[in-house]
Amino acid sequence: MKLFCGMLGTETNTYSPMPTGWNVWKDMLLHHRGDSDDGVPALFQGIRTIMSDTFSQRGWESEFGLFAFAQPAGLTPRAVYEDLRDEMLDNIKSCLPVDGVLLILHGAMVADGYQDCEGDLLAHVRDLVGPDVPVGAELDLHCHMTQKMVDNATVLVGYKEYPHVDVLARMKELFTILADAAEGKVAPCISVFRCRMIGMMRTTEEPMRSFVDELSAMEGKNGVLNAWIGHGFPYGDVPDLGTTLVVVTDDDPQGGADLAETLGRRLFAMRKEVCAVPQSLVECLDLAVQAEAGPVTIADTADNAGGGAPSDSTFFLAEMMARGIENAAIAPLWDPIAVAICQDAGLHARVTLRIGGKMGPMSGAPVDVEATVIGLADQVIDQMGDVNMSYGATAAVKIHLHKNSSDLPASGIDVILTQKRAQGYSPRIFSEVGVEPLTKKILVVKSTQHFHAGFAPISKQILYAGDLGALPGDMLKIPYQHADTTCLWPFTDDPFAA
Ligand SMILES: [Zn+2]
Repeated sequence: MKLFCGMLGTETNTYSPMPTGWNVWKDMLLHHRGDSDDGVPALFQGIRTIMSDTFSQRGWESEFGLFAFAQPAGLTPRAVYEDLRDEMLDNIKSCLPVDGVLLILHGAMVADGYQDCEGDLLAHVRDLVGPDVPVGAELDLHCHMTQKMVDNATVLVGYKEYPHVDVLARMKELFTILADAAEGKVAPCISVFRCRMIGMMRTTEEPMRSFVDELSAMEGKNGVLNAWIGHGFPYGDVPDLGTTLVVVTDDDPQGGADLAETLGRRLFAMRKEVCAVPQSLVECLDLAVQAEAGPVTIADTADNAGGGAPSDSTFFLAEMMARGIENAAIAPLWDPIAVAICQDAGLHARVTLRIGGKMGPMSGAPVDVEATVIGLADQVIDQMGDVNMSYGATAAVKIHLHKNSSDLPASGIDVILTQKRAQGYSPRIFSEVGVEPLTKKILVVKSTQHFHAGFAPISKQILYAGDLGALPGDMLKIPYQHADTTCLWPFTDDPFAA
């Protein structure tokens, strides 16, 4: 049996002024079929090795096509999306006949002229391989589930965990269902219930934790092959915005639909508990300063690159400097110009820097500082679950708040500047450039939730700030034009009653 496997994904923040053009794709992952493996990002090599092993263990041979993934930003230009899609289709065509197609997608990719890139891609793939070849896609749980995606896929499996520590585990489950379908052992049927709500839901907290575990426990019993929650992505303004409950059964459309509705209505009933609105920056700093012991980790959720934010906002830095807060550190702040200046000045050099605030009003104003370069690295690589992520060249600077301040670890505010735009995943973003996170009273990390897996074990307390920046934590502040908010909580108190 032969499998075609490819990847095409990004999460589109339709409000971002940064286009997801070729530079953004190249910066993270753009690997063409037939390209040499030398020099490709570790992210890809690791995934591909694990995938090859998974497929061959079951006796399947595999053909790898385009692997492309971009750090979330704004709309992908039309020509870029069409080139990527057509390349994937050409790749599949050159491998026909195949017994299955496995695509790693996102589910919230929007291009100029395409509000549903995944639905468009899956429809083209279906046209190409015909109705009988199983086509499966792995999706991020922050996906906009569309009827076109459901109609053209044999099976859709989404991540269950936020933070997404289960990307490879879900890929393996998807392959099992896809291979079982190709070998005639199961007939997957996708049932979707629209929960008429939207919000950011952390699976690390109750009652979400137990609910997700309950879904996992249902799998493999009573004809349920897979069950997951499509949380939706609030910063993508598309008609299909919203949370969905997805159940994949073995040829049981009625049973699947009933189960998806039962579970989906239970999730809706928990909406006010599971959709947490973050606190304000000021509230979080007040709490962190008053805390008896550190590190207190504050997530700067409004400037999370993983949600398409610039990751160069200065709201925290400016407020912490104004308050004279010391023994604190902030990471990662995207500023390739500042990184280059630090590299040229060298380790231990005193520099005058203008930091951040380059992308527009949502980034705040740039901050001018006197600082010492305290750490430099040609590249820092971190991990989200078992997937490698690169920040490129990285510099740590200590910002001096007073004229005579020292370079001692506890003085000033340490800021980690990165060449590539990426969110914070683990304390490595500090330690790899010589800043010891455990000794800090306050750590500010630009991330909405992926930071949690790495930072929870070292933090005395975790706080979420989400009022200043590109990603407002309060959904009511997002100016939707395409999403129908009349049938979504929190815009409508009970959309099922209407
Ligand atoms: Zn996600």
